[in-house]
Amino acid sequence: MNAILNFFKPDFLKQKRGVHPPEHKAESTQLPIAKLAMPQKLVLPLRQHIGNMPKILVSVGEHVLKGQLLATPECTVSAAIHAPTSGTILSIADEIIPHPSGLPDKCITLIPDGKDQWANLTMIDWRNAPKEALIASLCTSGIVGLGGATFPTHIKLRSSGKSNIQTLVINAAECEPYITCDDMLMREHAEEIVQGIEIAQYLLGAEKSVIGIEDNKSIAQQAMQAALTGKPISIVTVPTLYPSGDARQLIHLVSGIEIPHDKRATEMGVQVFNVATVRALYRHFTFGEPAINRVVTVTGNVAQPQNFEVLFGTPLTALTQATGGAKPDTTHYIMGGPMMGFDLPTPEVPITKATNCIIAASPHLFAPPPPAMPCIRCARCAEACPIQLQPQELYWFAKSDAFEKARDYKLFDCIECGVCTYVCPSNIPLVQYFRYAKSEVIAADKAKEAADLARERNEFRLARIEREKQERAQKHAERALGTKAEAAKAASAKTDAANEAPTTEAPINSATDEAAKAAKQAAIAAAIERAKAAKAAADATGLAPKNTAPANPAVQQEIAEIDARRKNVGLANTNEAPMMADAEKQAKIAAAIARAKAAKAEAEAAKQAQNLELKE
Ligand code: SF4
Ligand code: SF4
Repeated sequence: MNAILNFFKPDFLKQKRGVHPPEHKAESTQLPIAKLAMPQKLVLPLRQHIGNMPKILVSVGEHVLKGQLLATPECTVSAAIHAPTSGTILSIADEIIPHPSGLPDKCITLIPDGKDQWANLTMIDWRNAPKEALIASLCTSGIVGLGGATFPTHIKLRSSGKSNIQTLVINAAECEPYITCDDMLMREHAEEIVQGIEIAQYLLGAEKSVIGIEDNKSIAQQAMQAALTGKPISIVTVPTLYPSGDARQLIHLVSGIEIPHDKRATEMGVQVFNVATVRALYRHFTFGEPAINRVVTVTGNVAQPQNFEVLFGTPLTALTQATGGAKPDTTHYIMGGPMMGFDLPTPEVPITKATNCIIAASPHLFAPPPPAMPCIRCARCAEACPIQLQPQELYWFAKSDAFEKARDYKLFDCIECGVCTYVCPSNIPLVQYFRYAKSEVIAADKAKEAADLARERNEFRLARIEREKQERAQKHAERALGTKAEAAKAASAKTDAANEAPTTEAPINSATDEAAKAAKQAAIAAAIERAKAAKAAADATGLAPKNTAPANPAVQQEIAEIDARRKNVGLANTNEAPMMADAEKQAKIAAAIARAKAAKAEAEAAKQAQNLELKE
């Protein structure tokens, strides 16, 4: 049953994962690459690559030399711009650039002086120089991916150096119809390309290099094969099937490695360079040349399609004139191929690093598409999609603004190759829907990111205010606690002083305390001396001392304590002397008592005798 169905399918539907549209390559490969005459002026857009705009180093009116740095890379992803020839800077202003938006952007306009005088160039022996020095040199070379992606090459090499790259794949597929610049470059500069591959392999530290060439480029393949004699670099011929030049497709075709949709090729140990890019590497290290020109295919509705080596900044009109001019029915110009290219806003735009092909379009070459019809759910788009997506589902989601569903269906894996649009029998411009959905999702993500950032900032602000409030409260509490503690300490000190003081008067300070103590001790000593004197007198007379104790009770108590201490000390040292003193004293007292008793008895006896005499 399937065999019968396949038999009745048109040719393009038998293609699995890709299409084979009419090539239109032979027209522009009849003549060799030509060098274009020096144009009247060169307009150099500062944004010729992916990433940030470089920083301008020159000013209006300044004379510059060929190869001189005009703008230096700024930030991580950026590329330098050099003067393509010697001349004078006419202006630094907004000009129309080759971009789908048609909007102007900042450009440096250079008026050539006709001398084409080179600045000093530095060549580097790449085999004997450290890799860091080579990559630093590439950083100011202005070389970007010349296959159309325009990603700065030094970034690609630097980031690849951190990965473990085993395989370098050279993209020579050139699968889009009409474009032949890589084909012609391989035919005419195969040796330079091979030496460029060796440089790239060395910088990446890759174990092997593989060149992928479509089987419709036999002359280029032979030239490359001849240049590769004795070199450990292989060529893999891939079928002519659009989009075999897509990096993931080509990697799979030449190495069998399938890159998962959520991984980069470098994570799988593979890096991809275009043939024109590796040739630029060779010319940079061997001759010191920065990126100032490239090969461009000029084809379509022109008198004689051809490839040209073109200085960046050359007006598109200069190229079409070089081909004998565009035919009268030319409607517009396409930059890139008919599948992934875009219509230029005006023929007055300059050639940039991204320009690999200019196609003069006419109704007989590119008939206006018939009106779109409803989707009939035939699934031809899904069968042809090289990424194995479900374009018809993505279309429904995009049409109904269900962008999150489209994202779930891997919208961002779509490489916008246009294969689904090409095979759709309902002529639905599917890629345009996908581009629209992507831009909406990106805008929504940016809006959400901005809202999240604003919310985070607000939360951070509120947290800061709360933290400062707590810090202030804590400081106040600490201060209050400190005051309380000091007050308590002062009160405690006051109480201690009051307890220690002999009188109720509070000590004024320590000096006063000392003086009070000294006075007290002096008073005690004087009292002791007086007591001693009284005692001595009593001892001498045999009478007890009369009122010799000090009147102050505190002093009396102190005296008693001192006496007790003295007694204890005396007992500890000698027991005899006090005991003897006490015995003598008691003997004297006893004698005095005895004398008093005797005197009393004599007085009683005399009194009784007197009473008896009176009674008789
Ligand atoms: S979008 Fe086109 S190709 Fe895809 S299913 Fe619908 S009609 Fe068929
Ligand atoms: S444009 Fe996208 S969805 Fe369509 S075939 Fe190409 S990759 Fe698949």
